[in-house]
Amino acid sequence: MNYSTDFPSLEGKVSAEEWQARVDLAACYRLIDQYGMTDLIYNHITSRIPGTEDHLLINLYGLLYKEITASSLVKISVEGDILAKPDTDYGINKSGYVIHGAIHKARPDVQCIIHTHTRAGIAVSAMKCGLLPLSQTSIRFIGHIGYHGYEGPAINLEEREQIVNDLGPHDALMMNNHGLLTCGATVPQAFNTMYQLELSCRSQVDAMAARTELSMPGDNILEHTAHLYQPGARRPYGVLEWPAMLRLLDAEQKNSGYPPYRH
Ligand SMILES: [Zn+2]
Repeated sequence: MNYSTDFPSLEGKVSAEEWQARVDLAACYRLIDQYGMTDLIYNHITSRIPGTEDHLLINLYGLLYKEITASSLVKISVEGDILAKPDTDYGINKSGYVIHGAIHKARPDVQCIIHTHTRAGIAVSAMKCGLLPLSQTSIRFIGHIGYHGYEGPAINLEEREQIVNDLGPHDALMMNNHGLLTCGATVPQAFNTMYQLELSCRSQVDAMAARTELSMPGDNILEHTAHLYQPGARRPYGVLEWPAMLRLLDAEQKNSGYPPYRH
């Protein structure tokens, strides 16, 4: 089997828009790894290629997130059919893509979808109380997050519709007994939302484990605050920190031993 991960660069061989989408998506995989949100080789982050309606990028199934590069990403149709992939025996996880495909089809406003199985995300996804407004970080999601009941790993047509309905107009979905999902109009925005949702879950697990009574802001403050933190209410999310995120990756990768994400 050819499981080499030494892929030739596609820079200059694909459109400028596609290359930029590849670089941003590869960076997003690295950042999800950097901040402790990976599950071995599992899960996916997908990005629509701007300027196309139904061409998407996804990871080769079998690579660690810290191995993913711009040129290793696979171009697929919204149905999950491979349009272009590197010369390797690694393929894509079509059943894992089904959740992403359903949302990409139903939400043309969404460029990027991130799904994680993190310890804190799974923990909160199993709580009947759901995500609580325990912190300024989590208030952003109150009234702006969907919940999807667990129906087993088989993703049939009905469940796809249910996921789309449960997500509704939101950019965040708590998948009960399973994990987290965020999406966004850009890769940086979807990453920002996942970072904040993960932080909300980590702090909720810590606070609930502290065996002391917890305080929460009143309903009038919650609604007002949640509104102020919606993307676009004050500024779009992800824009200001993204160049800093890329500088962080560039600096850390100098001695990492892994190929640079921009390759
Ligand atoms: Zn999952």
